[in-house]
Amino acid sequence: MEPSPQPALCPRCQRSMHPALVRTDIWREGRLYVVEDVPAYICDLCLEQFYDEDVTDALRRLNEDGFSSIEPKREMVVPVFSLEGRVKRALTSGRPE
Ligand SMILES: [Zn+2]
Repeated sequence: MEPSPQPALCPRCQRSMHPALVRTDIWREGRLYVVEDVPAYICDLCLEQFYDEDVTDALRRLNEDGFSSIEPKREMVVPVFSLEGRVKRALTSGRPE
């Protein structure tokens, strides 16, 4: 299958798309991995991102080898927030505290 240079229209809403480098976040076994400089196409209307087959393959290979095949470009500190006590909702029954 020949990779097309640019998909013509958004598969979701049939609008035009533009190429861009994006960042994607991948959760694997409870850890967050961030991959930058990912070539993608972004829909002008719904902003959905689509990857070519070779990009999808590269991301899948990274994921399959546990991100051990290349060195991280940099590391970032990610703040983690909690909604505990900020949402009034009864805990689901069957989970007594
Ligand atoms: Zn779209």
